[in-house]
Amino acid sequence: MSDDCIFCSIVDGEIPARTVHETDDVLAFLDANPLAPGHTLVIPKAHAARVGDLDADLASAVFDTVAAITPEIEAAVDADGANVGLNDGEAAGQEVPHVHIHAVPRFDGDGGAPIHAVGG
Ligand code: 5GP
Repeated sequence: MSDDCIFCSIVDGEIPARTVHETDDVLAFLDANPLAPGHTLVIPKAHAARVGDLDADLASAVFDTVAAITPEIEAAVDADGANVGLNDGEAAGQEVPHVHIHAVPRFDGDGGAPIHAVGG
């Protein structure tokens, strides 16, 4: 738990969020400003600001959750794919300094940019 961390407050139940999936170490919840229906954030419950701050077990646990739930999210909103990624550090657009992986459902012909278009 880190003071003044929005996502730690969500883990602690002080700020409400729509939980998608939860394990002992990982929480997945709907993004408050979704880029698409079903846009989900997957976080370690323990505070870690940057991806390099995660130990290997926790990194695995976070990615295991991403891998398990992304197909379920896609099915729930009838999506055709998903962008899965994270912004690591302010320079990369990270606004909340608690590691989070975005799973953003995508739909055929939705016109959104792929991740490799970032900076291009
Ligand atoms: P970042 O830019 O750090 O990669 O993404 C932060 C994400 O957190 C944004 O997509 C933003 O909409 C989401 N977010 C920020 N504050 C809250 C909040 O209080 N609750 C939820 N559910 N999402 C939030």
